[in-house]
Amino acid sequence: MSTPEQMSERTLTGTGATPRSDVGTVVWYSSTAELPDPDDGTVEPDVERERFTDARETARDELEDERERTAERVGEQEAEVFDAHVQFLEDPQIEDGVESAIEDGLPAEHAVQRAFADPIKQFEGMDGRMAERADDLRDVRDRLVRLLIDGEHVDLGGLPEGTVVLAERLTPSDTAQLDPECVAGFATVTGGRTSHAAIFARSLALPAVVGIGEELHNIAADATVVVDGEAGELVVEPSEERRESARATREVEVREEPVTTADGTEIEIAANVGQPAELEGTKAQGADGIGLYRTEFLFLDREQAPDENEQYETYTEALETFPDGRVVVRTLDIGGDKPIPYLDLPEEENPFLGERGIRRSLGPDADLFETQLRALFRAAANGEGQLSIMFPVVATPEELSAALETVSTVAQALEEEGIDYAVPELGVMIETPGAVFAAPELAEQVDFLSIGTNDLTQYVMAAARENERVADLRDPRRPAVLRAISRTIEAAHENDAWVGMCGEMAGNPELTELLVGLGLDELSMSAVTVPDVKAAVQSIDTDAAAEHASRALEATTREHVIDRIQRNNANQ
Ligand code: PEP
Ligand code: MG
Repeated sequence: MSTPEQMSERTLTGTGATPRSDVGTVVWYSSTAELPDPDDGTVEPDVERERFTDARETARDELEDERERTAERVGEQEAEVFDAHVQFLEDPQIEDGVESAIEDGLPAEHAVQRAFADPIKQFEGMDGRMAERADDLRDVRDRLVRLLIDGEHVDLGGLPEGTVVLAERLTPSDTAQLDPECVAGFATVTGGRTSHAAIFARSLALPAVVGIGEELHNIAADATVVVDGEAGELVVEPSEERRESARATREVEVREEPVTTADGTEIEIAANVGQPAELEGTKAQGADGIGLYRTEFLFLDREQAPDENEQYETYTEALETFPDGRVVVRTLDIGGDKPIPYLDLPEEENPFLGERGIRRSLGPDADLFETQLRALFRAAANGEGQLSIMFPVVATPEELSAALETVSTVAQALEEEGIDYAVPELGVMIETPGAVFAAPELAEQVDFLSIGTNDLTQYVMAAARENERVADLRDPRRPAVLRAISRTIEAAHENDAWVGMCGEMAGNPELTELLVGLGLDELSMSAVTVPDVKAAVQSIDTDAAAEHASRALEATTREHVIDRIQRNNANQ
């Protein structure tokens, strides 16, 4: 018989993003505020004026806190944006606008919207930096509206200890604000294992379950929940037993040295990072180096792009953290779900099939690309570690040739300027079907290929990364994806290039034998999974792994592939 406590326990399922669990109290987060229709005839101007004044007061306090925290965590320059927000908050033109809208009978939140509309339009019509001010104004407006509607704006960077964040979806920059010291985990309505919020959760070792679906909306704020990122479950009002097991920290044995298979083949086990703050934690998990530095995260949440010197320092820091390992830096992959407000990104119907990755670097972001290459070539020359550079979302050999031309131009410019530089090892990410079919022509031109299974799976299966309705299709264990991976590995080796994998598939220890058997030389993953994958590598016999891989490649359905993997793992 169940106890009353057990009876009230409810479990919602989604996709586990991190193999960690914890328990905490729900806070709902929404990045956009929905404005209810104004209540005709019931507006009292004095009450609305007071509501506006209170909201403005709270907004000012919040902004001052955020300013202080950003200055501490990120830097003084980045914190300055909050000064601009405070100025807008106190702008007399906006104050007059709110006053006259309240006089006209609007409630405070609608008055705020009306008062901000004209100034936003004016800034939008200006050029360059001034146009960016429109975004700041929108931020200030949304903060005020949220405060007026909810009474409280959820400040993701300042959540109390033991908070579980629930949201429709979290953007990469929302997730980057979460402090793993305080946040017990998060769960979202949408998103898959390879959505950037999930990837971030893994780098922060933050328990997370994504893609739960509409049911998540039934969970009230302040409920107690367990986020079980291993099982992909959110347990509402969990039993004491369940809470205890969620809190228990998992013992992991860290292997600091590089590992080999049982019969002595070296497999490089590296980690994926997005910002300097992750480097130390990555090393602590025993990563041999960095297999994917997602540099676009260095460009998010700021007012302008980091300049050449700042980037040089950032890349040098990574090289110094891994003086004996390889650091693979990916050039900017902007677009898709990683928009950057200060860049003039087009509104695209389907940004994942639009202008992203190398397409922007060879087009509208050519200047940023050159600056990034300059910083990288300078970092490669300073003697620390081994730098490698790779290009994202390449679909044709011509794109690679054009990128390599820019490499030559940048090297020549540094030469002429007398600046110390080195052109490091170069590679291409294989994440489009076009790149798979052109893998021999790509491998011929570079030193290595790195398979990005997150995008490769979405593009091969035509199943978007964020869409839980097609989660089933978006499985790298599908025969079509496995064959694409195998074909890429063969093309690399036939052209004397080494080949790695930096998509999320690489971090699943249940697939390590298959991936080693397919012939990969390197696996790069979220730091949290490095110890388990290193342990898996050490028990592999390469001949047996190759046989296992060829059996998996012969399977004609996903179910067959899974069955072969499971049987193989059960026989270990
Ligand atoms: C990938 O697509 O597999 C990859 C590693 O790149 P990202 O997840 O940053 O798109
Ligand atoms: Mg990708």
